[in-house]
Amino acid sequence: MINISSKLPAVNNSIFSIMSALATEQRAINLSQGFPDFNCNPKLISLVNKYMKAGNNQYAPMPGVLSFREKIAEKIQELYQAEYHADEEITVTAGATQAIFTAIAAIIRPDDEVIAFDPSYDCYAPAVDLFGGIIKTVELKPENNFAVEWDKVKKLFSSKTRMIIINTPQNPCGKCFTDNDMQQLIKITQGTDIIILSDEVYEHILFDRKHISVCQYPELRERSFVVSSFGKTYHVTGWKIGYCAAPQRLTQEFRKIHQYQVFSVNTPLQMAINEFMKNKDELLALNDFFKEKMEFLYEGLKQTKFKPIRPQGTYFLLADYSAISDLDDISFTKEVTVQHKVASIPLSVFYKSKLDDHIIRFCFAKKKETLEKALEKLIKIDQLSSTL
Ligand code: PMP
Ligand code: GLN
Repeated sequence: MINISSKLPAVNNSIFSIMSALATEQRAINLSQGFPDFNCNPKLISLVNKYMKAGNNQYAPMPGVLSFREKIAEKIQELYQAEYHADEEITVTAGATQAIFTAIAAIIRPDDEVIAFDPSYDCYAPAVDLFGGIIKTVELKPENNFAVEWDKVKKLFSSKTRMIIINTPQNPCGKCFTDNDMQQLIKITQGTDIIILSDEVYEHILFDRKHISVCQYPELRERSFVVSSFGKTYHVTGWKIGYCAAPQRLTQEFRKIHQYQVFSVNTPLQMAINEFMKNKDELLALNDFFKEKMEFLYEGLKQTKFKPIRPQGTYFLLADYSAISDLDDISFTKEVTVQHKVASIPLSVFYKSKLDDHIIRFCFAKKKETLEKALEKLIKIDQLSSTL
């Protein structure tokens, strides 16, 4: 027997893999893992095809196809009036997950402390752990509308604080950072060498408000890695393509890792998305497209015993199930999948403390008929106890 000691002993299959597998096994409607059940614009597929047929099938330049990076820089300039140099400050990545991992790898050394806001997305902490860093979390609470209490953030500061990770709009709670949040972030990082990792993959999915990016604030831009994902924006989560925008000195370090981690990202998708981005209507229509789905699920859940919580952004919606069951949220999501054939995600897994307020997450990036069918099932749930 070869002996290996795990570098991440506490890590198991992610809750997204577990719940999607259970949904498939139970033939349940899958509102758990965040991905659309509808196809992307067929023009995008034709463009991929066009570029493949034209022979764009070899390695792209290490940081990405230059004209694509120029298009990304142009988008950031138009939306946030922030200038990034396409050649030196933008890197195309294999999804946001790789960008997040690479940024953490580039900065974090043993004993460095990283502040994150729980409930937080699952890929931050394992990457920090892997490089010997220590995650310190500030809990955002549902009863408080997931507002950030900045005095609590400040209390976590030490001489070892190296990075702050923010996610706006935030998965899973749908919170969006406000101008005040950004001002507070400026205030607490001023005069420090703290790096900000800003996960903005849902930058185009907000309800009744505008996305505020860290790159709009020069004081934050100079210390930030800004990460986004085309998977969310163009309904192609399986394509795993995103980017990282960061000042030249940060990008230089980022690319030292990126170069040996993936070297470059597949060429035809870069060419296709680049051309597709000329059509700006697709982006502009996204908020309304998802708002309709959010409202539909939100209003529908109001007719059930769940208590929905309105998100400010993302394609997720939280719901309180206290009126239905006193099971813990992990058991509850499994029981609902098995007994009522609708899969969701428990909220506690996004808290380091495993805080369980009897709240679960539904993904509404689904066809209207999928949401309708799910609601037909959810409305029938009155009480739920354990069978598993
Ligand atoms: N960050 C957040 C907040 C996410 O929800 C996701 C995945 N949906 C990612 C990062 C990863 O994005 P990608 O699939 O492009 O790696
Ligand atoms: N981001 C997706 C979610 O929150 C999951 C992606 C994944 O499975 N890694 O559901």
